[in-house]
Amino acid sequence: MPDYQIHKEIQTNVHLIRGDNRSKFPEANSLLIDDEIVTLVDAGSSLTNIEQTLRDLKYSFDNIDRIVLTHFHIDHKGYAQQIWEKTNCEVLCHPAGQDAVKTFEGMMQYYGVQDHKYRKYWEKILLEWLPHVKSSYNITGYFQDRKEIDCGSISLLPIHTPGHTPDHTCIGINGTDTILLVDIDLTRFGPWYGNEVSIISEFKDSVQLIIDLEPNVGISSHLINPVEDNLIKRLQDFLESFEKREMKILKNIEQGLNTLDKLCKAPTIYPRIPLDLFLIFEEFMVSKHLEILKSKSMIREENEILMIERK
Ligand SMILES: [Zn+2]
Repeated sequence: MPDYQIHKEIQTNVHLIRGDNRSKFPEANSLLIDDEIVTLVDAGSSLTNIEQTLRDLKYSFDNIDRIVLTHFHIDHKGYAQQIWEKTNCEVLCHPAGQDAVKTFEGMMQYYGVQDHKYRKYWEKILLEWLPHVKSSYNITGYFQDRKEIDCGSISLLPIHTPGHTPDHTCIGINGTDTILLVDIDLTRFGPWYGNEVSIISEFKDSVQLIIDLEPNVGISSHLINPVEDNLIKRLQDFLESFEKREMKILKNIEQGLNTLDKLCKAPTIYPRIPLDLFLIFEEFMVSKHLEILKSKSMIREENEILMIERK
């Protein structure tokens, strides 16, 4: 049994369903909106935790009317297909993520691993962890940026915040005072942009967009409690991570880690690489920074050797 409650009502009729292992990847939180239209936002907490929450509210899977998916990642689309098979409910996503939500191959392409040397290895581990993500997912419709999704007394406001992925969408709950921040997740790790389709500049703009909305409560997909204290400061620190990582890359190059390979094996962004497959993500993230540093003429590359131009 975990040392925390599986679910918690964080606002009237808004239930945070926590994932196993304190909602750390490959688990994540989901939200259950207990309203006229019973709506599940993301489906990445374990099926057991979702079922337990429903049972405690005197519901079963049959009562779910709608699932809203914030983006295509495995820890967010999660069990949506299995739930849809039980309920035939509405399933909504952002159009920019539809190919990666719907099919495994589409998802592999967005991850950037379809032709990668680690593809087989990655697929094997992925299917050990989350065998259900191999299936195709049924989508019944799309939500639009800033067009409210009406649940009855509660309305959900999709706030398109790309960068982490092209479809990444935060969700305002009855406006923008409380926002499901999804993977602007405020974890100690910081921002994650390890997919081929991730874009650092968009991610930074998206975090700034959320800061500008001045929310008071931020619900991370990977922290078991909503963040209320110093939320804006936490978001600003999260935003600063991009800059700090860039500095670290420059420092590492200076200290002789002067190839992409050496930077990744150090590693530079991940605190450690527990499994080789994380090298794929480290490589995408470091490469994206190197491109930015080149475009700012801060580094140059000759025969795959990186050199500092200016600091
Ligand atoms: Zn994600």
